[in-house]
Amino acid sequence: MRMQAAIMFQHGLPRPYASSTPLIIEDVELEGPGPGEVLIEIAAAGLCHSDLSAIEGIRPRPLPVVIGHEGAGIVRECGEGVTDLKPDDHVVTVFVSSCGGCRFCVRGRPNICPSGSAARAAGTLISGGKRIRRLNGEAVNHGSGLSLFAQYAVVARRSMVKVDSTIPLDDLAIFGCAVMTGAGAVLNTAGMQAGDTIAVLGLGGVGMNALFAAVAGGAERIIAIDTSVEKLGLARQWGATDTFLATDADCVERIRTATDGGVDTVIETAGNIQAMELAYAITARGGSVVSAGLPAQGANFSYMHAGLVSDEKSILGSYMGSCVPERDIPRFIGLYKRGKLPVERLKSGTLPLADINSAFDRLADGSVLRQLLRPNI
Ligand SMILES: [Zn+2]
Ligand SMILES: [Zn+2]
Repeated sequence: MRMQAAIMFQHGLPRPYASSTPLIIEDVELEGPGPGEVLIEIAAAGLCHSDLSAIEGIRPRPLPVVIGHEGAGIVRECGEGVTDLKPDDHVVTVFVSSCGGCRFCVRGRPNICPSGSAARAAGTLISGGKRIRRLNGEAVNHGSGLSLFAQYAVVARRSMVKVDSTIPLDDLAIFGCAVMTGAGAVLNTAGMQAGDTIAVLGLGGVGMNALFAAVAGGAERIIAIDTSVEKLGLARQWGATDTFLATDADCVERIRTATDGGVDTVIETAGNIQAMELAYAITARGGSVVSAGLPAQGANFSYMHAGLVSDEKSILGSYMGSCVPERDIPRFIGLYKRGKLPVERLKSGTLPLADINSAFDRLADGSVLRQLLRPNI
């Protein structure tokens, strides 16, 4: 079928993106779903910092590529062997395609299934196939096995979870990355308990979901840290008990003093080494840093090893919030329905495909939380 997609042909074009147009809207051909695959109409796709990292080239992808890894859609056609979905079902996409049978999947850790990483590196769906072609016949790579910055997508059945069709699809889209990554980091990776003290460093879409989850999970004290005064103000309105500006020279000292020697659990969502250093510095003896933000490929974080040992600190990675999507997306939607994960507060407007480059300018400015592409409106 013919559709429009936003294709990236090169990394690292200069800002403003509204002029350099790293994403070019083209008519393309989308092949129908193969065995185990599903054609979905994209209802909404969120613009995430990881997409910006791909545009900047600090997390390169095979080119040309259609990126976009957070979304919700409507099933239009099921490939051979897909019997548990039907047209008009609503789904949230999952940016790690898991195989279901490897040693990680069977231990309940599909988020680190290596079959997904191989497909991601090769720019294919988990089947190994590519379904998008330019009108000149050139194959286009898939981003995260999804390619959601388009009107439609063909995606592996295992890269989506069926959801309640009464919930607005633009709210649901946010569950595909920001909610799983942020809420999952707090409730799964960190295993936060009611009464804990927790810090969230970096208040974008992921960080705000970590904050919501900390409130929902009954944290006694929630310390929010960011470089933006506006975002700290929002965090206070939404349940943070203490806020600190990361750019203050004495930020570490002030947090350590306010928390009697440091925070037990620090969720780092900013995805850069300075943020990681700050997170480690404000972690209490016996405490943990949970890092959920992806920095530039090849960036290295260092720490004083003796202190790690004598202070018994832990450093944990959290990929997609350590989520089992079939378990956690319905769980988090349940919290949303009770007003405990108010993702609708994070929406900073919707946009058509034609506005996607200027929307990435706004994301790079740090002035928005979640902008949602609505490619069929
Ligand atoms: Zn993301
Ligand atoms: Zn697996």
